[in-house]
This record gives sequence, structure tokens and C-alpha cells, in this order.
Amino acid sequence: MNIANDHVVTFHYRLRDADGNALEDSHDGDPLSYLHGHGGIIPGLEAAMRGRAAGDSFEVTLAPAEAYGERQADAVQRVQRKYVRTRGKLTPGQVIEVGTDRGPRQVVVVKAGKFVVDVDTNHPLAGRTLTFAIDIVEVREATAEEKAHGHAHGPGGHHHH
Ligand code: ZN
Repeated sequence: MNIANDHVVTFHYRLRDADGNALEDSHDGDPLSYLHGHGGIIPGLEAAMRGRAAGDSFEVTLAPAEAYGERQADAVQRVQRKYVRTRGKLTPGQVIEVGTDRGPRQVVVVKAGKFVVDVDTNHPLAGRTLTFAIDIVEVREATAEEKAHGHAHGPGGHHHH
């Protein structure tokens, strides 16, 4: 089965930057699943997945615009400590999670005070050219429920929203 809209794709990936530094490796844990054609993964990667099949391995290099976007210069915001979900001491450069009106969001600590934290709201990988090495594990038809929800559900139909 070749990947097309409304297929659930399960894959492993290794991610490295333009200098060849390893950034992430899903092989340490479970593979990821997404519903193709619904914007569940970054645009350049979703486009590169189309037409592939289980067992395929390939690499794709994505410019920032196809990945996590360009860095915005004026993206530093001051947030109250109470909205910070990451526990413990905060250090500049650390990626933390903050609660927002639209759900949790990853940001980077610029400066941590006692009651407020200055954070850079750019995605930690914004502005970077990224190479993904993809191993496709499984391709299947989405269930009616997955199509209705617009995302993939895990093994046994478990999912979190
Ligand atoms: Zn769902």
C-alpha cells in the first residue's frame, strides 16, 4: 500500500542538522504514527512521504520554510512562572513547556526570574535546515473514527487528545 490521503503511516526517524549533528532519534522508543493528508507532521516531510510504502527507507533535507518555519526576531515573551509546566531549575537555552490558550507549547528559556520567565516562542528547530532519515514501518487505511478526528490513533484504538 502506497501512502496517500487517509492512510495511517507509522515510521521511525533520525533527525540531524545541516552540520550533521544528530538531534533526535525515534529508534530509542516507539515509532510515530500520523494520518496522512491532515497536516499532522511538518509539511515538507508529509510531502516526501507520499507514495512510499512499508519497508521503504529514505532521506529528505528540508529548508526551514518546509519544516518548522523561519525564526521570528521579536518572539521573546515574558510568562508567569505558574504557566510553566516544566519543574525544577530553569536555565537559559533549556526547552520547556508552557500552557497557552491553544494547549501546551515548547519554548526556549532566555532568562529565568523568580516569578516570571522570558522565553523565545520560536520552535526550538525553527530557522534550521533539517535532514530526516525515515524508515516506514507500516501503512494502513485509517478507521472511520480516525478520519472523523483528523488524526491517527495508536494500537488498539487508544489515543490522547
Ligand atoms: Zn481521536
